[in-house]
Amino acid sequence: MRAFAYDRPSSEVAAIRAASMLAHLPEIQGRAPVEYLAGGTTLVDLMKLDVMRPAKVVDLGALAGAHDAISVSSDGVRLGAMVKMAAAADHPEIVKNYPVISQSLRLAASAQLRNMATLGGNVLQRTRCPYFRDTSWTACNKRDPGSGCTALDGLNRQHAILGGSPDCIATYPGDFAQSLIALDATVTVAGSSGVRTIPFAALHRVPGATPNVETALAPGDLITGFNVPAGPWTRRSLYLKIRDRQSYEFALTSAAVAIDMVGPKVREARIALGGVATIPWRSREAEDVLAGKTLTEAVAEAAARAAFAHARPRVHNAFKIALGQSTLVRALLQAAELEG
Ligand SMILES: Cc1cc2nc3c(=O)[nH]c(=O)nc-3n(C[C@H](O)[C@H](O)[C@H](O)COP(=O)(O)OP(=O)(O)OC[C@H]3O[C@@H](n4cnc5c(N)ncnc54)[C@H](O)[C@@H]3O)c2cc1C
Ligand code: SF4
Repeated sequence: MRAFAYDRPSSEVAAIRAASMLAHLPEIQGRAPVEYLAGGTTLVDLMKLDVMRPAKVVDLGALAGAHDAISVSSDGVRLGAMVKMAAAADHPEIVKNYPVISQSLRLAASAQLRNMATLGGNVLQRTRCPYFRDTSWTACNKRDPGSGCTALDGLNRQHAILGGSPDCIATYPGDFAQSLIALDATVTVAGSSGVRTIPFAALHRVPGATPNVETALAPGDLITGFNVPAGPWTRRSLYLKIRDRQSYEFALTSAAVAIDMVGPKVREARIALGGVATIPWRSREAEDVLAGKTLTEAVAEAAARAAFAHARPRVHNAFKIALGQSTLVRALLQAAELEG
């Protein structure tokens, strides 16, 4: 590994100061020269691969007490950014009243990783595009802006069919983010100019012409937590993940669905898709098809067709259209059977 400076501040203010201090330095491979270290399961991995090259790492371990709580009230759930994936997945209130959150975390990674990794780090994990992770491929706009995109005409079976650009088609790989998108969560961010709360849906950016810019965060911004509002759709919610093997694998396609129903009719549906898009992907098109309808298989299929109407496949990933549609149909029909 390359040498880097290391800091382990004990307060949030000190952490933000430490992380903002080098913000004036030139970006390193299109990224801020400082990275926070939470569980390290993305960061250390990519530093060993020489993909992420921070000049400084600011370890959040000593301020964990401030942001490692889960609180549930009649208004919703507050999840601290330093909460471990396993702790949120197994929290009894979340399992019972927000199953889509619990399932999206339980179906991710492995038990060891879930015990180590945090929710804040999880939503900021980087793509698994093999050309991004292997520096022997020189053309990767996300890793090295302006260098090109090997995946466009390379092996692109895993890649995105929604939200891509001529500069990058890398898939957003995480699972938990889809549940946050479906439930209209917000994210709290502390930075050098204070604390702000933004819709979680505004956190990630489609690649456009700058695939290296993945989020709306400024250098030094610290995610402190997530707020998930309560609503009549949270109990009837689920996460369905389809992958090449049953465990310890990223999604080829996934669907997070949350539905408010009156009898067999949908009052409101919230749908997010994973494995198929460059960012956690809300499908308003599918939601519009479902609103006010009786949730039959035919209606679910119409919603699924709408969700992928604008898909842009490449040579190896066109199968994700049919697979994504059937994933969504199954998720909707399963959710309809749940108690609201
Ligand atoms: C083999 C393997 C399989 C995996 N499978 C899955 C899977 O199936 N599904 C899935 O969803 N994930 C999967 N993951 C990804 C894993 O869930 C993430 O690596 C993990 O959640 C990252 O959390 P962390 O705390 O370790 O983050 P870190 O590695 O510490 O940090 C990741 C990034 O987030 C930044 N960061 C961390 N915390 C904050 C914060 N509070 N504020 C601002 N920036 C912050 C860091 O600077 C860094 O850039 C897998 C990982 C591995 C290694
Ligand atoms: S898809 Fe994105 S991450 Fe993958 S090679 Fe192309 S630019 Fe790089």
